[in-house]
Parts: sequence; structure tokens; C-alpha cells
Amino acid sequence: MNTLKHACPPEAEGQKTEFAETGRGGAGPALPGDRIRAEKLREIDLFVLDLDGTFYLGDRPIDGALDFVNYVRESGKKILFFTNNSSRSPKVYMERLAGMGCPINRDQIMTSGDVTIAYLKENDPGKSVYLVGTPALEESFRQEGICLWDPEEDRTGPREAGVTASRPDIVVVGFDTTLTYRKLERACTYIREGAVFLATHLDINCPTEYGFMPDCGAFCAAITLSTGVEPKYLGKPFKETVDMVLLHTGVSRERVAFVGDRLYTDVAVGVNHGAKGFLVLSGETKQEDIKNSQVKPDEVYGSLGEMKCLLCGESWDHSR
Ligand SMILES: [Mg+2]
Repeated sequence: MNTLKHACPPEAEGQKTEFAETGRGGAGPALPGDRIRAEKLREIDLFVLDLDGTFYLGDRPIDGALDFVNYVRESGKKILFFTNNSSRSPKVYMERLAGMGCPINRDQIMTSGDVTIAYLKENDPGKSVYLVGTPALEESFRQEGICLWDPEEDRTGPREAGVTASRPDIVVVGFDTTLTYRKLERACTYIREGAVFLATHLDINCPTEYGFMPDCGAFCAAITLSTGVEPKYLGKPFKETVDMVLLHTGVSRERVAFVGDRLYTDVAVGVNHGAKGFLVLSGETKQEDIKNSQVKPDEVYGSLGEMKCLLCGESWDHSR
């Protein structure tokens, strides 16, 4: 993992630096593109921030990330945190961010679980859903009135000859850290018998402090292999996520930037749907990965710390 440091030198605090003309106050020469990169940030009214690798690493905010959020708020722009991780409730993220000195309201955090709930309410009201998800996601579905299928009341498992079994209308797969073989079997059976197959997000692995753990996309791959049916994915990088963000915030599409450390989710969701997609190099993606990617970011920044420096005209140490 890249551990870029917030590098506004102390002597430059409060100084307004004229990019490219006046140098960097001892932090090295200005890059000619800084003015343009700063201007791209100033055109944004809403920054939709990824969490892991973008705002925090492990239990600590990345250097400069808090400064960025505070500066954006003070300047009258908006912040929304968005994570594809559907295993935890938004409340958990609120508590985690508050513990890092970044208190937020419920309307400033959105997950792929939220997008899935909104999708179901709009497109399939009243339909029954078999959820392969954590108790936290299940609770979120219940609170929003989604009709959850109780598998104990059906005839799942090996179907008896001549028995017409009931099934849910829809199977939703999330990042289920309580996944069991029985759940997988039920999901496959229902999908094979005609249930619609939805997934909260497509991430195949979830980064952890010790490596990776299989995520929603990996579970879906197993179900697809068994059934031959591909899911409809929600979350980043899909249109439904952008639509929900726009509806939720009222900000116009071209003034929204999705910011994150993954090209194929965080950046793609912006560049593919008429918003902006900014890459930060503070997490998974390295500069050299960009040339091999089909997804090209609208702009690349070292971290949220650099974005803050550019926004307020302070110097950034590019040697870091
Ligand atoms: Mg990330």
C-alpha cells in the first residue's frame, strides 16, 4: 500500500501560492499542470469519497484526508462517503468515521446496500427477496420494508418429485461474511427455478490488513458457474449508484466527482456516467497501472491531502 504523506510544508500554511509561477515554498518546483488540476477540483460541488485506501487505511485516516474534508465543508461544497461494502450498516461507518475525528450524518454515508434497497423499492415493490447477506444488511432491508423470504418456510433442498415448490421472486447477494453452504445452495436453487439474480456490488476481493478476503463478486461467480445465470450488479461502477447520488444530493451530474483508489469501481462510476472520476494513489492503484487500464481517470492526485493543497493554493511536495 502506498502511504503518501500530507506534505503541505509548515511555512506554506496560510500562504496562497501562484502555481507554476512562484515555486513551492521550499517543497520543490511546481508542476506545470497544477493550475489545471486545481481548477478541476474547484469545478466540483460534491465529492463522493471512497473509504478504504482513500479516506482511511486500517484504523487511521490517511494523512491530509481530514484536512480535505474540513476544507471542502468550510468552502460550502459537499462530501458524501460511498462504499461498495454491503456487509456493515451505515451506522457502523458513521461510528468509525466519528472515531477518526470525522463525524457525519446518516445522509453523508451511502453503501451498495442502500442502492440495492432503492433499486428494489423502485423496480420491484412488494416482491419477495431471498437475501444472502449479513444480519446488518438484513436489518437494513427490513427497516426499508423489503419483503424478505423466509427459507425455513419453503421446500428448498432436493426437490421432491411431483412437488411444485414455492420460491422468492428475487435473490440478492451481498458481501455476506456469514455465508454458509446452505445459503449458497438455496440461492442457486431459487435462481435455477427462475428467481431474478441481483448483487449489491461486483468486488471480487475485499482488502484486509493481512491480505484479501473473498467478496460479493466471488460468491456470485460461484452461483453463476452453478446456474449459468449472471447477476445484475449494483453499487459502483453502475448507473444506479450515480442516479441515487444525484437524487439524494440534488447536485448536477457534471459537478459531481467520485474519488477513490480503484479504477474499475471508484473512477469508472464517474467517468462512465457523465460525472467525474478522480483517482487517488493512496491505496490500491499505482501510477503505472493507469496505462494498462481501460478506465482512464479525469485526473490523478496523490491523495486527498494533495487535493486539499491544490484547492486552497498551498504547496504539495511531489517528491513524496
Ligand atoms: Mg478503496
